[in-house]
Amino acid sequence: MLNKESKAPKAPAGAKRVAKKKVCPFCVSKATEINYIQLAKEIQESGNRYDKSGEKRTRYITEKGKIIPRRMSGVCLHHQHLLAVAIKRGRVMALLPFKND
Ligand SMILES: [Zn+2]
Repeated sequence: MLNKESKAPKAPAGAKRVAKKKVCPFCVSKATEINYIQLAKEIQESGNRYDKSGEKRTRYITEKGKIIPRRMSGVCLHHQHLLAVAIKRGRVMALLPFKND
């Protein structure tokens, strides 16, 4: 199917799903480094908040403990690198899970 117009679109042309522009939260707060202790606390607290009020949490790891990719979280390249290092440090210090079953 090389011809795009031959494809039958599910939604009408005008009703294209507009993706919400994601902004890196670390860039907003102008963070130059990410403290793994602070990050682990933030992730744990946001997890609790989700359980009580049902709000969508702003955390950087999945239920299973995996690091959420940049394309989903909206974190910029620089901060994603710092974030990954911080999460890995948190894991070693037993603040964050390697694996959640
Ligand atoms: Zn950033």
